[in-house]
Amino acid sequence: MASPIRRRAQETRWRTASQVLAWLRLHPGATRAALAHDLQLTSGLATELTGRLRALSLLAETPAPPQGRGRPTTVLGAHPAGPVVLAIDVRMADWRYAVAGLDGRLLDITTLRHADGDPAAAGTDSRGPAAVLAAVRRTVDEERERYGTRLRAVAIAVAGSIHDGRLAQSATLGWRDVDLTGLTVGTAVPLLPGNDATLAGLAEARTGAAVGARAALHLMVEVGIGGAFTVDGRPSTGAHGAAGEYGHQPYGDRSLPCPCGARGCWDLEIDGRALARHLGVPAPADPRGYARQVLDRAAHDSAARRALRTVAAALGAGIGALVNLHDPDTVTLGGLAAPLRAAAPDSFAAAYLDGLMAFHRGQPPPVVDAAHGDDGALHGAAILALDHVTSETALAEWSAREPGT
Ligand SMILES: [Zn+2]
Repeated sequence: MASPIRRRAQETRWRTASQVLAWLRLHPGATRAALAHDLQLTSGLATELTGRLRALSLLAETPAPPQGRGRPTTVLGAHPAGPVVLAIDVRMADWRYAVAGLDGRLLDITTLRHADGDPAAAGTDSRGPAAVLAAVRRTVDEERERYGTRLRAVAIAVAGSIHDGRLAQSATLGWRDVDLTGLTVGTAVPLLPGNDATLAGLAEARTGAAVGARAALHLMVEVGIGGAFTVDGRPSTGAHGAAGEYGHQPYGDRSLPCPCGARGCWDLEIDGRALARHLGVPAPADPRGYARQVLDRAAHDSAARRALRTVAAALGAGIGALVNLHDPDTVTLGGLAAPLRAAAPDSFAAAYLDGLMAFHRGQPPPVVDAAHGDDGALHGAAILALDHVTSETALAEWSAREPGT
């Protein structure tokens, strides 16, 4: 058994390694000299550290092209035999996956429509949880086959409310109380589920449009609206992982019942269902697709423009309320939120400012479009998994593994 002093030294060692790998993800392809500068390490210590991480297959170093005078340095990247994670994003019509190494780069994003190439699912509900999760599990098994013990975590983004690792409900997918643990059961690989909007917010805070913000609010409209409030790049997810259900705040019409069980939810004011109601047509089966259609015809359809103004104002007013609640430095808009605002920017801005408390109005936080576009949730899932893999405990486990097992 290790002595307390020895144990303390090991803990410090993994903490430093974890910091170096967190830095690498923010600066893939940067030089060892930059690492030493940013983490305030002497050149000798940086060399020793990166050498140790290289020996553990956690980091690769290649000579940097010579630049003027000064000592030659190296470029840092993910080790070709290092840990990888599998990031998955399950959406309404399709699901996507990508593998990422420790530098956070997504390799080969694959998109599959639900029930693509799956004759077994013919005749069954191809968008139901059984068919979709069976297809995802096959991919998990294929990637385990391909990467062996290098595959250290699987993270899955789902358009729904996550509660203690289960998908409690998804209006987008029409799923209710779905157990996700089967995706890695029987393997040693941990499964990390997350809400898609929360993970997209995580990605914006770490590597997107909210980099540098201490407190950032991300809001994403697809069917309804979800989001994440991050502080120092960490989302606040609540006691059970279900925080951030912004769409189920009572910023709407109290006479309207929401599928979530509450009344007057903001969800019903800001998506394709709201546009259909304002245009006097029945609720669309595909609210996201319907919203796209209305946006597309706005240029030559005054009724569509009126409906979009109403929805943009409902979006702006709710964001004002959330700024009063959270006091973010920056607000980012993902999914349909950006084009909905762009369709009626004046209505959005007026309602946003009206919703703010006076002391916020002098310097309202900027509301900017998200940087990751449709890839936000997938990037966020990779970040969630890599945070796990580069934790001090996981790094100690990686270094103690038997190669090839
Ligand atoms: Zn609701």
